[in-house]
Amino acid sequence: MNASEQRTNDLHQNSFLFDAHCDTLGDAIAPPPRGRDLTQWSEKGHLDLPRMRAGGINAQIFACFPGIDRLHASPTAAALQRLEALYQLTESVPEQITLITTKKTLAQLTPNGPIGAILSLEGVEALNGQLSLLHTFFRLGLRNVGLTWNPRNAAADGIGANTDFGLTPFGKAVVETCQKLGIMIDVSHLNEAGIADVLAMSDRPIIASHSNARALCDHPRNLTDDQIRAIADQGGVIGATFVSHFLNPDYRKASLNDLLNHIDHLVEVAGIDHVGLGSDFDGCLPPQELDSGEKYPAVTQGLLQRGYQPDDIRKILGENFRRVFLDILPD
Ligand SMILES: [Zn+2]
Repeated sequence: MNASEQRTNDLHQNSFLFDAHCDTLGDAIAPPPRGRDLTQWSEKGHLDLPRMRAGGINAQIFACFPGIDRLHASPTAAALQRLEALYQLTESVPEQITLITTKKTLAQLTPNGPIGAILSLEGVEALNGQLSLLHTFFRLGLRNVGLTWNPRNAAADGIGANTDFGLTPFGKAVVETCQKLGIMIDVSHLNEAGIADVLAMSDRPIIASHSNARALCDHPRNLTDDQIRAIADQGGVIGATFVSHFLNPDYRKASLNDLLNHIDHLVEVAGIDHVGLGSDFDGCLPPQELDSGEKYPAVTQGLLQRGYQPDDIRKILGENFRRVFLDILPD
């Protein structure tokens, strides 16, 4: 290892890395050949515990994505199955991964201790339009809620619905209840009217767990500068994502360099305290330089090469997301 590699490595391994989005639980429950044991290093998919450790990940949001699994008649059952997969993982190797449900459990994470897992819904289909189920999922450990995936649901319209409708009364009740209970609201996938409604409803920090800047890649899943500014103004954080289609208008050309360009832009518009990372591992096609959890140090190396100071790199790698979750999670 030369001196510059050593510097990158030291900074990366001593930073708190918080990845705000992955779909890995879907792989955990999938039948072979996609399904795999997350305790084992695999060449399949993007994330498993050994590769998370190698990549220096300290906290990971695990999405329960019930949106397009047509085999499941019940999105509630699909979400519960993914929750169960995470419980089985945290119970089988508690020294490697632990469920984060409170400020205290998040604050206690250490660089060499277990990885903190945060449970998330990517779309509230699993609630079946019933607020009481939100309370149930909260009891089960849910701490981040993306209101929609791409289609319309009972709460709101995703970007795929192609409408100007904002939150439904149920959607507003979900946001209000989440913020009362201590669940983060995540606006990635939500349409513009929905994001505006969430921001207008409360002044609590919210996140966009995996979205890039529309100024650099004009895709509806990316955020406009006005949205980026508004999320930052409320103290929130935007997770730059590795999704090739959101990095470069020609997704085949997407690269680590594009990700760094999006981070530069987000920092310029939102400020250094409001940018993080949300890979979308196991839910997307990432650039080849970023196609496995173990490759995370390449991001740190890229930020160093662009002249970011170590303290600012730590904010982007995870301190910003850690700050807002310490703010929102229950005691
Ligand atoms: Zn997504």
